[in-house]
Amino acid sequence: MTEQNLNEINELRGIAERVGAEDFVDVGQIIRDVVDEKWKNPTGAYNIALKERLTDLSESDDWAEAKLEWKATGNIWYVPMRDSADDVLPQVHQDKHPHECICGHKIAWHFEILNTENDTLEIVGSEHIGFWMVARHLVENLNMPADMITQERIEIWVKEAVKSMKAEWWWKMHGEQFEEWFNELSEIDLRTNVRNGDSYWDEDTNRYEHQHLIRKKAEGKIGEPEYAMASIVWRWNHPDNEGVFYTNNKTGVKIKKTTWKNLLNDEKYTYEEYIHPTMGLRSRKVSLWSKSVESTAQKDTRGYPNERLWNDLQMFYLNLPRHKLALEEKDKERAERVAFVVKEREEQRERQRIQREEYARQEAIRREERRLAEEERQRRQAIRDAERARQLETAFEDFCEKHDLPEFTLENGNNQWEQNFLKDMIKRINTLQPLSPKQILYVQKIVNNIEQPATEKQLSYIRKLGGTPNPEMTKREASDMIGELKNPTKRTFSNGEEE
Ligand SMILES: [Zn+2]
Repeated sequence: MTEQNLNEINELRGIAERVGAEDFVDVGQIIRDVVDEKWKNPTGAYNIALKERLTDLSESDDWAEAKLEWKATGNIWYVPMRDSADDVLPQVHQDKHPHECICGHKIAWHFEILNTENDTLEIVGSEHIGFWMVARHLVENLNMPADMITQERIEIWVKEAVKSMKAEWWWKMHGEQFEEWFNELSEIDLRTNVRNGDSYWDEDTNRYEHQHLIRKKAEGKIGEPEYAMASIVWRWNHPDNEGVFYTNNKTGVKIKKTTWKNLLNDEKYTYEEYIHPTMGLRSRKVSLWSKSVESTAQKDTRGYPNERLWNDLQMFYLNLPRHKLALEEKDKERAERVAFVVKEREEQRERQRIQREEYARQEAIRREERRLAEEERQRRQAIRDAERARQLETAFEDFCEKHDLPEFTLENGNNQWEQNFLKDMIKRINTLQPLSPKQILYVQKIVNNIEQPATEKQLSYIRKLGGTPNPEMTKREASDMIGELKNPTKRTFSNGEEE
């Protein structure tokens, strides 16, 4: 051994003592689908066989020293039991013991190890990849600081190695088909594997529609008619498929938030003591974990789809024509609905337009009618005004003619009262105010003087002329009689007070 190697190995001894490492990494829980049969950490015959065979291949004859000559190279191959190793393993390993650990146990995971003293390459299974081997690989090949080496980090490395190898193997087997089918169905998946969210009013369809949310969890059981798979895209690589993780700052172990929450306080935090400037010795709570948000999509967590996703994808792909048809029908229904709504709205607008036009037409007719009526009213008013003007003009004349009266004046009154009365009546007649029958009669009496009783003077004059007056006679009758008596041949018309 060179001095440098010796120093490194001494350093690793220190690590092993510090972390209390066993010879072998406990990977019993890490890789479950590796071998067909269940196998706990190697004990008994397999362990003995491993130690003997590795020691035989080493420079040292003592296992305690011999095991330190070996380190993992970082090369790992996954070859399922039923598959041939021919296309996978390098020739050197094909020639030795494919599908077998150096201990003779059947394996699927082939971890390559190298003896750095004599350059021998060998293969061990996941259960026999030694703590030493991985620790040396991390320090020497990956330049990890020695003080960062812990049991957990070794386990994480094995786990990651297994994961990426399994993913690589899976992609070799199914990758092309997966990619092709996934690309073909992803759009349909995102529209088909959905669930109804809140409803909202859709202006285009003029009805309430459900929001469609990605179905993140399957509903029902596989094989049952109501089975509704979770979205394939969601599970595989949807950008929103994220979770909160906590990474242990010392060990590098990463756990989900839910797991972290259930940890005891002592597992979450450490308490550091420090001197406070005024308050003296204090204790400070320091988190042992770093929080991060990371993708929880299988593409990132596993690197290849799990069995369920792969099965669902194949089933969905098989039914793709049916899913497409269902979506096309849905799109068609919507398009028809939208077209119907557009047509409805157009028709409604047309109906409203016609209504507005009809209203405007009716309104124009009504306006014209009102205009004609107003014109007619004005025409009649003009006639009435003209008639009234004419009536006013000839009112007095007409009155006298109608009542067989001479055109009179207030002078026709025999006394002041009669004159006032006539003045008042003339004013009424001239303004076309109606006179009562009594008033008319009185006007006639005054103007014609006819019913005034004959005066004593007339009566005595008649007697003097030889006549015999009727004491009941009127002025006019008396006057007429006087005329007759004075000149019997000549007929005298008198207005009254003629003597
Ligand atoms: Zn083995």
